[in-house]
Parts: sequence; structure tokens; C-alpha cells
Amino acid sequence: MKQSILSGLILLLLVSSSYAQKKKTTNQKPETPKVEVKMTPPPPVKVTSVEGITEYRLANGLRVLLFPDQSKQTFTVNVTYLVGSKHENYGETGMAHLLEHLVFKGTPKYPMNIMKELEDRGGNFNGTTSFDRTNYFEVLSATDENMKWALDMEADRMVNSFIAKKDLESEMTVVRNEFESGEKQPDTRVVATYDGYRV
Ligand SMILES: [Zn+2]
Repeated sequence: MKQSILSGLILLLLVSSSYAQKKKTTNQKPETPKVEVKMTPPPPVKVTSVEGITEYRLANGLRVLLFPDQSKQTFTVNVTYLVGSKHENYGETGMAHLLEHLVFKGTPKYPMNIMKELEDRGGNFNGTTSFDRTNYFEVLSATDENMKWALDMEADRMVNSFIAKKDLESEMTVVRNEFESGEKQPDTRVVATYDGYRV
């Protein structure tokens, strides 16, 4: 932990010093973009690399696992949140799953239904809620535009989803149906019993 903070600092210093050198060579410009430098986020810190998968840590704590696969013409963005139904209190049963559905309903920046947008891009996608995690993934054609869109959309819906009352009402029925069909699946019951959770 200490070490990764230190490497983060070192990287930051390197960025600052290369900027300072640049500033000297381009001294003719009257305005220097001081604010821009402050707004540039520190670069990701490499944590470890195992079997072709490299883990990075962003300054905001986000863990990023990169697994390049040159044999594919698609990429997969998979965002996992370490929250699930076991974090629900009494009176909140189903809320984790409901929230998972609601973040497909759009944001001010992506007002179109996100599910529709993913379909229009030819994506294979879904969201799932389990006892201890919620995840969202999309598989799209490997273009820079798709990658930029997917990452920006995930970042945006993480904090800016509409979560509207009308969607809450319609999705409540969908979630209830999915809950009931899951309840009848033996594997769900086994896992829940093993982990000590209510199904
Ligand atoms: Zn669902």
C-alpha cells in the first residue's frame, strides 16, 4: 500500500518535471496552462501482472484489470461493484437488483435508454446482481469510438443515472418476476444456503 502510494507520487513528480522543461522551451507563449496541469489526473499505478492480466489502480481507488486478447475483434468492458443483496436491510429487499435495472434508464448526458443504445451498437450486454456484487458488461466491436463510448457511459451512469419514479414502478414488476424465477432455481438456493443469505 505504502509502496503504491509512493510510486504514484513518483509518477506525479515525473509528469510535473517534464512539464516544467517543456515550459522553458516554449517560453514565447504568454499564457501558460497552469490549471490544465492541476486537472490532469495522476497516471494509473501498476499493481501486478499475472498470466497476461495486468492490474492498475487509479487515484480514485478504482481497480482496473486489463487483459489484451489480439485474437478478438471485440472488447469487453466489465464493471463490478462489490455490493449486492447481502447489503440490503429490512425493508430494502430487492433494492440492489432494482438499482441494477435503473442504471440502464439513462443519464442527462445519455438520455436515450442505454439498453437501446447498446442494441443499436450491436452489443452483447447485461447486468447481474448477486449476494456480494453487482456487475455490468458490454461486448462491442473493437473500435476506438465504441471503447470511448462504453467507458464514458459506465463512468457517467455510475453517478448520474436518472433513477426516476416511473422507472422504479415498472422495473419493480420485472425484478419481482426475475426474483421468483431465480427462487425456483436449485443452484440459487444452494449458494444462498451455503452463504447464509435469504433467497
Ligand atoms: Zn434483473
